[in-house]
Amino acid sequence: MPFELIDLPFASDALAPAISAETLSFHHGKHHKTYVDKTNAAIEGTDMASDDLETLIGKVRGSNQGLFNNSAQIWNHGFYWYSLCDDGCTPSGDLAAKIDEAFGSLDALKEKLAGAGAGHFASGWVWLAEKGGKLSVEETHDADTLADGDMNPLLVIDLWEHAYYLDHQNARPAYLDAVIAKLNWDFAAENLARGSTWKYPG
Ligand code: MN
Repeated sequence: MPFELIDLPFASDALAPAISAETLSFHHGKHHKTYVDKTNAAIEGTDMASDDLETLIGKVRGSNQGLFNNSAQIWNHGFYWYSLCDDGCTPSGDLAAKIDEAFGSLDALKEKLAGAGAGHFASGWVWLAEKGGKLSVEETHDADTLADGDMNPLLVIDLWEHAYYLDHQNARPAYLDAVIAKLNWDFAAENLARGSTWKYPG
């Protein structure tokens, strides 16, 4: 079954000025859509056409870089949209306790995300992830993903220039500060409570 371009889980102007509707029109409507279209074209008529996205990503990792890049980017972007909050989300409960345990405080975690994102060379992703009940900040390069590994991703931030250039130009730290204030801690708490990797809808 072909993969779908999932709808944004918020209004396209809900995150401005951190992320504008114009950025989302390109980032979701063009970039994410292209990853979906290229992946669907590559798997049509093959025995991979019935795989779920996470299985496909694991199957082509290390063997088909082009299809890995496109399929991983479908997943990464879906996860990124859900990682953003339009309504003042804050961590609570077990998530808040695990953040304190791993980083000392929520502010310290935010600083670590901002530092990792600003220091990341070129394109990629910075993640909050969980393994064995312990939280950590992780980075992946280009299209690489935590979708098919043994870590449970809780949140992700897109570090590609297309994520921020229209709104913040070359100032990645300004984008990071703005987007870290818009993280969806409810989504992170759901992922932590499930204890297994989020699945791309469809
Ligand atoms: Mn992107």
